[in-house]
Amino acid sequence: MSDPTGEAKLEVKQASKEVKESENVAEKYSALTVSKNSEMNMGELSSAFSAVPTHKPVKKQIQFVEDKQEFSRFPTKAGRRSLSRSISQSSTDSYSSAASYTDSSDDETSPRDKTQVNSKGSSDFCVKNIKQAEFGRREIEIAEQDMSALISLRKRAQSEKPLAGAKIVGCTHITAQTAVLIETLVALGAQCRWTACNIYSTQNEVAAALSETGVAVFAWKGESEDDFWWCIDRCVNTEGWQPNMILDDGGDLTHWMYKKYPNVFKKIRGIVEESVTGVHRLYQLSKAGKLCVPAMNVNDSVTKQKFDNLYCCRESILDGLKRTTDVMFGGKQVVVCGYGEVGKGCCAALKALGAIVYVTEIDPICALQACMDGFRVVKLNEVIRQVDVIITCTGNKNVVTRDQLDRMKNGSIVCNMGHSNTEIDVASLRTPELTWERVRSQVDHVIWPDGKRVILLAEGRLLNLSCSTVPTFVLSITATTQALALIELYNAPEGRYKQDVYLLPKKMDEYVASLHLATFDAHLTELSDEQAKYLGLNKNGPFKPNYYRY
Ligand code: NAD
Repeated sequence: MSDPTGEAKLEVKQASKEVKESENVAEKYSALTVSKNSEMNMGELSSAFSAVPTHKPVKKQIQFVEDKQEFSRFPTKAGRRSLSRSISQSSTDSYSSAASYTDSSDDETSPRDKTQVNSKGSSDFCVKNIKQAEFGRREIEIAEQDMSALISLRKRAQSEKPLAGAKIVGCTHITAQTAVLIETLVALGAQCRWTACNIYSTQNEVAAALSETGVAVFAWKGESEDDFWWCIDRCVNTEGWQPNMILDDGGDLTHWMYKKYPNVFKKIRGIVEESVTGVHRLYQLSKAGKLCVPAMNVNDSVTKQKFDNLYCCRESILDGLKRTTDVMFGGKQVVVCGYGEVGKGCCAALKALGAIVYVTEIDPICALQACMDGFRVVKLNEVIRQVDVIITCTGNKNVVTRDQLDRMKNGSIVCNMGHSNTEIDVASLRTPELTWERVRSQVDHVIWPDGKRVILLAEGRLLNLSCSTVPTFVLSITATTQALALIELYNAPEGRYKQDVYLLPKKMDEYVASLHLATFDAHLTELSDEQAKYLGLNKNGPFKPNYYRY
């Protein structure tokens, strides 16, 4: 860093080396192309990825709102609560199923106070009720149905065991879909210990099913503050077992290990981070020169952003609104704040159901996109008195203010799809003149002195994660990306990845996408030699430059 000239020279060297490697990779890939239905050999796959030329750290500027966290600072109890385990603040880029069918209220005894043993005699886990394992297994099997690409990766790779010797600690939402990922990692040779990144999102029956099969799970729905950290610690700190890989969602596990077990942390081979928040914290750590482990930023993979954010929200916005309010959309006036990936998904779904959709934007490019897609771009104040629904998806704060809430009409609905619960100024509604009435789970009527009611969903927290489920298929895409990132980091020869944050090679994104095409019986067109030469591409990809925006 102190010698920019030296650095520049190094970069030139790396760049020319990368071009050669890229050619080699392309050759390897031509034998591995999924569209040709060849059986994937994980050894080849891994070495193919190993040569993919994107290993130069690509640092992205990520914008944050309220919850800017310093990795080096140990979180206060209150701070942590508001950061990542309340649903509002947990990673928004991975998904929790709000529809856990087990209720934590059926047995008030804390799992920490129970002694439970699975059928193999192990008690190395802590879940709500191990007896729910069979029920959880059925949930996992249902999820498997729509995660066929991940299952196919499991089948292709399980004889190779590319994760043999990997000891992975994971901190994610514990849902049926995550269970499919965890069981894939185990099938590929890994040992796993798992904990939840969110105190509300664990499907108890799924946690039980995983514990029954020998994955050490420490999680239950409705953990307390103290439970949350206790579970993370139990996951990491165990006799005779030392993790060498981290799969994190939100950065809490990484943070805990970094602070509490620095010697173990230093020996970690790689971190795979899923969420905007966690990635941001990794970049901060890296910037401060304190990241001593290579990390993969899965959040910014094309297969994550363009699918999770856009398609997941397109599918789940209506579900969240319908479940909570039974609203009919035809003819309703809806304003969507922010026309990024999430906003585009929401607008498309609402338009398809016949809603009249307005968009607010600060960015002229996104605003122009909204215009071209047929939406009226307005200032919120222009439509605030007439709209039936407001949906925020900006990642910003105070997008809907108290003054605007005061002017909304009776019966209007306010909700948020963005990461943080600060998009709507909910705190400003907690004043003595307003009455709050809980009408359903996650549904509050806020009543003004004149009797006007505004329907506030999930207290301004993420609507889809709080009130509905999210599509399994989308999770398969992200989970496959995570699995491949783990394989890549675990198998990379020493020195390939330095102590920095990396994006996944585009080739890997393309591979994840191609695995999922089979579901749709989609048939890819193959470039002819002549066409490939004309476009200057390798016939087996990558098909787009890194700067391509999709
Ligand atoms: P994005 O950056 O693509 O889009 C956000 C848009 O909001 C941008 O175009 C920006 O210009 C605009 N914006 C910012 N401030 C604004 C304001 N005051 N008024 C109007 N527009 C404003 O981000 P994204 O991928 O669409 O994600 C948006 C939020 O949703 C993030 O917080 C993200 O973490 C979260 N997210 C939610 C889910 C989910 O399932 N609910 C999934 C992925 C991401």
